[in-house]
Amino acid sequence: MTTNNHQSAFAQVTSFFDEAADRIRLDDNLRGILRKPWRELTVAVPVRLDNGTVKTFTGYRVQYSAARGPYKGGVRYHPNADLDEVRALAALMTWKTAVVEIPYGGAKGGVEVDIKTLSQPELNRMTRRYTQSIDHIIGVNRDIPAPDLGTNSQTMAWMMDAYGQLHGYTPGIVTGKPVELGGSYGREAAPGRGCVYVLEQAMQDFKLPLKGAKVVVQGFGQVGGWAAKLLPALGAKVIAVSDVQGGVHNPKGLDVDALLKFYDSTGSVIGFKETERMGNAELLEVPCDVLVPAAIENVITEKNAGRLKAKVLLEAANHPTTPEADKIMNDRGIKVIPDILANAGGVVVSYFEWAQNIQQFRWDETRVNDELRRIMSRAYTAVHQRAVKDKLTLRQAAFVVAIERVAQADRLRGFV
Ligand code: NAD
Repeated sequence: MTTNNHQSAFAQVTSFFDEAADRIRLDDNLRGILRKPWRELTVAVPVRLDNGTVKTFTGYRVQYSAARGPYKGGVRYHPNADLDEVRALAALMTWKTAVVEIPYGGAKGGVEVDIKTLSQPELNRMTRRYTQSIDHIIGVNRDIPAPDLGTNSQTMAWMMDAYGQLHGYTPGIVTGKPVELGGSYGREAAPGRGCVYVLEQAMQDFKLPLKGAKVVVQGFGQVGGWAAKLLPALGAKVIAVSDVQGGVHNPKGLDVDALLKFYDSTGSVIGFKETERMGNAELLEVPCDVLVPAAIENVITEKNAGRLKAKVLLEAANHPTTPEADKIMNDRGIKVIPDILANAGGVVVSYFEWAQNIQQFRWDETRVNDELRRIMSRAYTAVHQRAVKDKLTLRQAAFVVAIERVAQADRLRGFV
C-alpha cells in the first residue's frame, strides 16, 4: 500500500535493504538478485457466493528468494493485500528466516478481500480456488504457506485439503494447521511468545527492568493477544490494548485473561470493565515503557514518531514503522526491536511443524517452546552483538546479518 508520504510498502522495505547493502558493500551482481522478487503470480479467484452470484477476487503469491531453502510465508486476506504489500511482506520473510537461521527462503500470499463480507462457506470456497490457482508453484519442498492477517488454522485446513485432493495427503504443504490435522503444539502462541522471549533478553541489555514495566499493545489478535497474555507472568503490566474498533486503557493494569475472554465473547476489547476508551492513534501515544504494535503496517510514521512516549518499541506486526519514523525514534533514543527479529517466532514454529510433518513425529509443547527460546535467543544474540560491534541499531544489524546470509547462499549456489 502507498502511505501518506507516497512511498510504497516495498519501497520502504527496499530502503532498509539498500542501507544495509551499502553498509556491507554488497556487490552489484548480488544486489541485483536480492533487490527484487524471484517470481510473482497474480490470479483471479472467482467465488460462488451464497446468493448464487459469482464474485471474482484477486490473489497473489510472491516468491522472493529460495536461496536458503524453500519459499515460506503467510497468506493474508485483507482489502490492502495488494501486489506491492505482498511483495514487501515476501521480502521481509526472506530477511526474517535468515535472521533466525532456519532453512527457508521468503514468500507471501494474499487475496484482496474484506473477510467480514463473506460467510464461512464462501471463505472455504475462496480458499480452495486460491489454493488451486497457486498449486503449480507451491509444494512441501518448494513453497509452504501459513496463516497471517485474516487467515487462521481453519484456512490452513482448507488449503491442505484442497492441495491433498490433487496430490494426496500432504500435511507439510502448509503450517499453522489445527493440531488435529498435524499442526504443532504451540504454533498459535509462537509469534507472541517469540516477541516476549526477545523482549526479555533485550530489556536486560537495555538495562531496563521488565518487572513493573508498563506495556501498551495495539492489536489483540493472534500475535498481540498472546504477547499480552504472557507478559504479566514476567511482572510486566499491560495498561492498554486495542483492536480495529479502538482501545481501552487502565493505568493500574488490565486483567489480560479476563480481557481475552471478553474479546472472544464480544469480538472487541471495547466496553471492558474499569477502562477508559480511546482511539488507536491516541493509544500509541500513551506513556509506557514498551509499545507493541501488533496489528497492521505503517502505524508509526513521521507524523506521530515524535510524540511516542515509550522507551522500547517491540515490532510484533510486520513493518509497523516507516523508515522516516525509524530515524526519528533512533534520534530520540527509543530502542526498536525490529519486526524481522521480534515476530519471527511464528515462522520458527512453522518450521518445527513442517519438520514434524515430514518425519510424521510429534513434539510436545515443552519441546516446542524450549527450541523456540533457543532459536530466538541465538538470533537476538547475533543481532545484538553485531549492533554493538558496528555501532548499529538493532534493525540495521538485523538487515546486515540477514543479507550476508542470503548473499552467501546465492554465492555458494553459483548465482554470481
Ligand atoms: P489477527 O487478525 O489475529 O489480529 C489482528 C488484530 O489487530 C485484531 O485484534 C484486529 O482487530 C486488530 N486490528 C486490525 N486492524 C487494526 C487497525 N487498523 N488498528 C488497530 N488494530 C487493528 O492478526 P495477527 O496474526 O495477530 O497478525 C498481526 C500482525 O502480526 C500482522 O502484521 C502480521 O503480519 C504479523 N505477524 C503474524 C504472524 C502470525 O503467525 N499470525 C507471525 C508474524 C507476524
